[in-house]
Amino acid sequence: MKLIKVESPQAGARLVAQRFAEISQAAPASPVGLATGGTMVEVYKNILDLGFKPKFEDAFALDEFLGLEPHHPNSYARYLNEHFVSPLGFKGQLHVPGQGKYQNQSGYELFEHSLASLGPLSVQLLGLGPNGHLAFNEPGSSLTSRTREVELAAETIAANRQYFDPPESIPPHAVSQGLATIAQAQNLLVAVFGEHKREALQQALSEQETKAPFAAIRSHPNLTVFTDIEL
Ligand code: PGA
Repeated sequence: MKLIKVESPQAGARLVAQRFAEISQAAPASPVGLATGGTMVEVYKNILDLGFKPKFEDAFALDEFLGLEPHHPNSYARYLNEHFVSPLGFKGQLHVPGQGKYQNQSGYELFEHSLASLGPLSVQLLGLGPNGHLAFNEPGSSLTSRTREVELAAETIAANRQYFDPPESIPPHAVSQGLATIAQAQNLLVAVFGEHKREALQQALSEQETKAPFAAIRSHPNLTVFTDIEL
């Protein structure tokens, strides 16, 4: 694992954007993996600022709130359209678990199948939740998990309810790529910015924390963690 200390979230977002652009442009036949959340908004802005023109034809999302229509203001399908597809003029296909043909158990299996047949991803963007979750794989998730429905942890609901109007309308469940699914990508870029993630990062990096979601990717051969947290 490579750990890159950055001066600020802004500087970190710029570096993550540059790495994403380099890796994906060097492997135009491979799809990419996109993440959502507050951290990634800056990463996508920086990707746009680079004048990046996607050469890949498929992009896979990590997760989605269960039961939200793709045009719902809080759906991750909409988030990715707003922050990635539209600004970059991405003409390929965006695959979102839990949306369109990827709904219900057979849809989750189809999502895994699409990923396996089009993949592996050249690069997967990842955030880390303040409680250590990776995508919506909450602490305690099986390290061999696959795309499935999950129950959101109380901390995740607390961190994300601010984006919903009204806040209590946040769905309690989601569809998430599993930890074993995420680990298949060729390169993993993890962005962890802000003091509120210190404990989650320490656990992620600690070999003793064998049950932390991050343990599923800790020994990945091409894992880079970008953080502004002084450890
Ligand atoms: P954030 O989310 O970027 O909004 O902090 C990260 C995550 O929960 O994975």
